[in-house]
Amino acid sequence: MQHPLRIYNTLSRQKEEFQPINPPFVGLYVCGPTVYNFVHLGNVRTFLSFDILLRYLRFRGFTVRYVRNITDVGHLVGDADEGEDKVGRMARLEKLEPMEIVQRYTNDFHEVLAQFNMLPPSIEPTASGHMLEQIEAAQDLITKGLAYESAGSVYFDIASYNKQGGNYGKLSGRVLEDLLTETRSLEGTEEKRNPLDFALWKKAAPEHIMQWNSPWGKGFPGWHLECTCMSTKYLGTQFDIHGGGMDLKFPHHECEVAQGAALNGKDPVRYWMHANMLTVNGQKMSKSLGNSFLPAELFAGTHPLLDQPYSPMTVRFFMLQSQYRSTLDFSNEALQAAGKGFRKLANGLKISRSLEWTDGENQLDSAKVADIEKAIDGFYKAMSDDLNTAVAIAELFTLLKYVNMLHTGQLLPASLGQEVFKSLKGNFIIFLTDVLGLEEEKPEINALIPGMLQLYREFKENKQYDKVDEIRASFKAAGLVIRDLKTRLDWAYDE
Ligand code: AMP
Ligand code: ZN
Repeated sequence: MQHPLRIYNTLSRQKEEFQPINPPFVGLYVCGPTVYNFVHLGNVRTFLSFDILLRYLRFRGFTVRYVRNITDVGHLVGDADEGEDKVGRMARLEKLEPMEIVQRYTNDFHEVLAQFNMLPPSIEPTASGHMLEQIEAAQDLITKGLAYESAGSVYFDIASYNKQGGNYGKLSGRVLEDLLTETRSLEGTEEKRNPLDFALWKKAAPEHIMQWNSPWGKGFPGWHLECTCMSTKYLGTQFDIHGGGMDLKFPHHECEVAQGAALNGKDPVRYWMHANMLTVNGQKMSKSLGNSFLPAELFAGTHPLLDQPYSPMTVRFFMLQSQYRSTLDFSNEALQAAGKGFRKLANGLKISRSLEWTDGENQLDSAKVADIEKAIDGFYKAMSDDLNTAVAIAELFTLLKYVNMLHTGQLLPASLGQEVFKSLKGNFIIFLTDVLGLEEEKPEINALIPGMLQLYREFKENKQYDKVDEIRASFKAAGLVIRDLKTRLDWAYDE
């Protein structure tokens, strides 16, 4: 049974059936990283949430154009209109060209995402590569009376926008009056007509490293404008899905909604999706709070808060155990449990790949057949329900039970019938690898395994049990176990 895909739309604050503007095509834009530092595990969670969306959309037959930008200019330290440029600041501190900083951390970002088996975007535009589009957009907004120049900077005029029918605050649900009273510092706002107006273009002080010529003098673009320009350039003035971390909802995405509507007279995005935060002891993981983990520290187990190293797939599995809209708290215990769970699935994957149909005379076991069909349907249902990977994984464990029974001979293929047998094997593999992006992590000693098992067999035949134990110990040290079954000798990941 096909379940319609429903996703939670921040704009309507409810789950909606997903209907693309121009099926089977889907336009997906996700705010990429600001490349001034190494990506931490919190960033990874957000990109993983959208990797799952991308995979599931493709799995459901959509042709997705996935645009994920690189923010290499315009993101200021305070996340608003004041402060130094994040990339520029790092360039100054490290005495490097800003583009060296950008390249270094873009490379790191790509490496990390590949380690976690995330699919690359179709287009990865950079803010500095779209300067003309941003200048043109700011000019256009001035012409429309929705932006104004002040002291060499250009600001979006929220009052005019609302007067012309706009609704600043519609995405985040914030009310203008509250925002005004909640805005702590009015410092730096004297150039603005309204303290909430945000910069489309900022005048650059002479010492500001990254600056470009514009009709308003030398300056640089505002962070919000870049995403509007790059998303509409590659996906159109109205596209299907825009995603990002929950912390980008306001002001970044609120400003994008306003800019898009002001420029093109329509809502730029049909479905806004926000991924929830990775926390440490309940606090958002972030570089500025000093509680962030680098993926490399995790793989090496070197962070003071870690008991041991964890592999990329363990971490991926750990994150998928909760749905993307709930917060997820990082802990050693949770990761250890995730490691066990993942290795169980990895063993299932390994053996399911070698399961083969054999004819038999047995009666169909209709209870088991029904249970398998229910779990397969349950996986689709869970993924279609706003990408509920937590429930989807529980269904996978039901399938795993039957994969294991087939492997040990407790269940014979013929008891399921050929169709259900194939569906169990095929779906288990596809759900795990294509949809959830979980792959076996081949052990370092992989190439040596057949030889070691051969030796094990010989030592055992010759009753050289100390040698047998040595081989067992080498497997153990590599995170593996030897499965010495009556009928055959095999190995597995140590659960
Ligand atoms: P940045 O490079 O700071 O712009 O962040 C890149 C992405 O990571 C954004 O979508 C953020 O919302 C997201 N992000 C930052 N911190 C966390 C966190 N602790 N958990 C989940 N996502 C995060
Ligand atoms: Zn953005």
